[in-house]
Amino acid sequence: MFRFAKAPTYLLISALLGSSFTTQADNFNTLPEIGTTAASTLTIEKEMEYGDAYMRMLRASMPVISDPLLSEYVQDLGHRLVANAEDVRTPFNFFMIQNREINAFAFFGGHVAIHSGLFLHAKTESELASVVAHEIAHITQRHLARSMEDQAKKSPATMAALIGSLMLAIASPEAGMAAIHATTAASAQGQINYTRSNEKEADRIGIATLAKSGFEVQAMPRFFGRLADQYRYASTPPAMLLTHPLPESRIADTRNRANQFPAKRVNTSERYQLARARIIARYAGIESEAALDWFNRQLKKANASQKSALNYGKALVFIDSGKYQQAHELLDPLLVAEPKNRFYIDSATDLDLYEKNYDKAIKRLEQALTANPNHKVLRLNLAHALQEAGRNEESISILTRYTYDNQNDTNGWHLLAQAYADIGRRDAELAARAELMALRGLWDKAIQHYIQASQLVEVDSLDQARYDARIDQLRLARARFANL
Ligand SMILES: [Zn+2]
Repeated sequence: MFRFAKAPTYLLISALLGSSFTTQADNFNTLPEIGTTAASTLTIEKEMEYGDAYMRMLRASMPVISDPLLSEYVQDLGHRLVANAEDVRTPFNFFMIQNREINAFAFFGGHVAIHSGLFLHAKTESELASVVAHEIAHITQRHLARSMEDQAKKSPATMAALIGSLMLAIASPEAGMAAIHATTAASAQGQINYTRSNEKEADRIGIATLAKSGFEVQAMPRFFGRLADQYRYASTPPAMLLTHPLPESRIADTRNRANQFPAKRVNTSERYQLARARIIARYAGIESEAALDWFNRQLKKANASQKSALNYGKALVFIDSGKYQQAHELLDPLLVAEPKNRFYIDSATDLDLYEKNYDKAIKRLEQALTANPNHKVLRLNLAHALQEAGRNEESISILTRYTYDNQNDTNGWHLLAQAYADIGRRDAELAARAELMALRGLWDKAIQHYIQASQLVEVDSLDQARYDARIDQLRLARARFANL
């Protein structure tokens, strides 16, 4: 069933959580200014290290979506906002987690997680952007660092211990959903939370960022208001929200703030609609029949541009359920109309590969790449197609470069490991798998893999030197990780 529009079980969007911990809110005025006390205890460098460690733990314990097209979409959306934000001190990384609960959260080091469920509730790209802009503001204003600082001052626990307990909660699989709400879960334990002032500040700055980035500012009060309404009429309000009353005043504040900007009509981008259709087809956790039913119902009231995205979504459902003819009927006209659309190219490639039309897929991708030689998704697609066609050496050459350029992308390492396995290069396969382990913070296993790889190759060979050097690097990384 497709019930996401009704009473969500949780409304844990941090944007909407007014803090009930008034002691901290009252203490806001005594919080240190950015760049003074906070910076002296928790440097940006330290934050980056925590962020990196955290990210590895998340990969190991949460359903992080590694879909190249969706990753590209959220990165582009996020960076468009970052480019218009003030006080940017860290690089930013935007990624998606497969989860139907509405949530987005930011953590150290510029990492912003977006739940797939957010796409199901946001009706326009500006609505989605308003939540992302709010989270970006939490990072640029260093709210997490400042609230932890504040907490550390009032409790016997040291900063390191506080961060440690937060990270342990995240790392523990049993902690489940509660843990992922890094800030909110911690706030439930009364440890760390954003103050009411933090939330208002993030709203205020987020709206300014939205405006500068060309999004519709009214989207924020509208989206927040709609979510609040849904909660209000929910038959079983989540316990979390009972202890964190939804502050009407904040929605009113965002509305007033948005009214200060000139009214502007912003069309939702085609890419947003395609990304949303892709999420509904593949990451909403619903049966194919229910998904088709939903797409069909939406098609009845859709305009022309929405129709393309909805038909694309239907085509994906058909591909995933092996109904290739029906997928062709929908996808072929879309690709004719927009031969450069990467969502369509991606799915046409999938179809070709399933139907063993390898040359057709490879040719299409090579053509697309001549216009856009460094495009990540196309490069991955081509490497995959070459592999399916049995052209592993060519695939490896693309992937070697790709993994060098994108060391944190698990897709590249996965494909590379597969290609090496196919040609029987066990040492190189182990090395690629080791990188996947390291990305999940599994240092011991990663090092073990490299040791094995090193033993498989000729003594004193270039490969052995490379593997051994990497073992040293990983040991250092493991030590740093443990020190955190
Ligand atoms: Zn917030």
